[in-house]
Amino acid sequence: MPAVNIALQSRPDTDPSVDHAIQAIVTGEAVGETCNTDLAAGPWDFDGRPGYGPGSSMGDVIPTGSPRQGELPLQYREASEDELNERIVAAKATLGDRVVVLGHFYQREEVVLHADYVGDSFQLANAAKAHPEAEAIVFCGVHFMAETADLLSGDEQAVILPNLAAGCSMADMADIDQVEECWEQLEEIYGDMDAVDADGLVPVIPVTYMNSSAAIKGFVGRHGGIVCTSSNARTVLEWAFERGRRVLFFPDQHLGRNTAKAMGVPLEHMPMWNPRKPFGGSTPDTLEESRVILWHGFCSVHRRFSVAQIEQARIEHPGVRVIVHPECPMEVVDAADEAGSTDYIRKAIEAASEPTTFAIGTEVNLVQRLAAQHPQHEIFCLDPVVCPCSTMYRIHPGYLAWVLEGLVAGTVLNRITVAPDVAAPARVALERMLAAKPPAAPALTDSSAS
Ligand code: SF4
Repeated sequence: MPAVNIALQSRPDTDPSVDHAIQAIVTGEAVGETCNTDLAAGPWDFDGRPGYGPGSSMGDVIPTGSPRQGELPLQYREASEDELNERIVAAKATLGDRVVVLGHFYQREEVVLHADYVGDSFQLANAAKAHPEAEAIVFCGVHFMAETADLLSGDEQAVILPNLAAGCSMADMADIDQVEECWEQLEEIYGDMDAVDADGLVPVIPVTYMNSSAAIKGFVGRHGGIVCTSSNARTVLEWAFERGRRVLFFPDQHLGRNTAKAMGVPLEHMPMWNPRKPFGGSTPDTLEESRVILWHGFCSVHRRFSVAQIEQARIEHPGVRVIVHPECPMEVVDAADEAGSTDYIRKAIEAASEPTTFAIGTEVNLVQRLAAQHPQHEIFCLDPVVCPCSTMYRIHPGYLAWVLEGLVAGTVLNRITVAPDVAAPARVALERMLAAKPPAAPALTDSSAS
């Protein structure tokens, strides 16, 4: 199969590797700061322990029962970067069209090098769909992304997550039991959730961000709701408001708040739902008046960005163009010049015809890669501390080599499957999203998830 990267038309001239930067910082060869020196170790050092591992999500609570990665065989842990590269290339050559390797924008460069497609989670799931001949889809992203690929791929195709510990702390913040409980409490306030009022609206339409488990997508599908991405969130909320008096939005409060605010929904009509408190910590009156109920979830990568960083960037780089992801807090989005998904950020940089200084508020692996691909621009991460997405970083080339060589030997390792009773309503929620998509995309398309 020819390498068809969604994002990478050309290889960069300079080293975009965040891992190399971290190694250099930790050994003192380079000046800089990383949020955790453990990032320089092999991710297998953390496979036996619960937790997301070092990086931006390391302080987040991992749910009980989250998948843990078993021990990676020693030969993969001890292999050099060059050896792993050669083994991955050889295994892919042997497998040919039998395998498709997908790499998320936030994935480490050493893995992205081997991806047939690079993109956001939804682009990659669709890329997998375009290869019904492939027996295996190796998803170098995180758990919910592999689930989405399983939802959209053929029954016979195996979707593989090279490291089972690559979850997503934001997706894990909306647990299906908590969401079911929330729905029951909302029923106490609003009554029959299927009953329409005089305007033909039901009390609540549940909307989930793509960055959620298949179980949550299934819940949404069962209750007349819909999935959104960070690009089509506004279109999806408009769809929901045509059908419901209000929206229950999860798991990312920031995407929900930023989108609804831009649509003119007052902040006082956007209460937060904390699943650990009765009625989410709000009063029934507040919930009655609400327009968007925001689940108490967030992305620890995007929560690191601050207004102070933007102010500093403007002082140090007069004329800098600041673009942040809508998973950033509202005050950061308000202080930035633009906000948009990973794909929006990439296309905005590609569209800049004059040399420009960009300060970008999203995951550092993508920012480093964009900087290397566009040497005519100065591109840097708003956060001066090198702190990648903890869970994405768990997929080291050693795990990729292991699962690919497993396929060569006839063994499917780390398969991710969604149970049929969950998959059916989850697909309904995804189909509603596709149907809600505006027919014509704007020139600067913002069409991605995280
Ligand atoms: S960047 Fe945030 S939302 Fe994306 S996978 Fe990492 S923790 Fe999850």
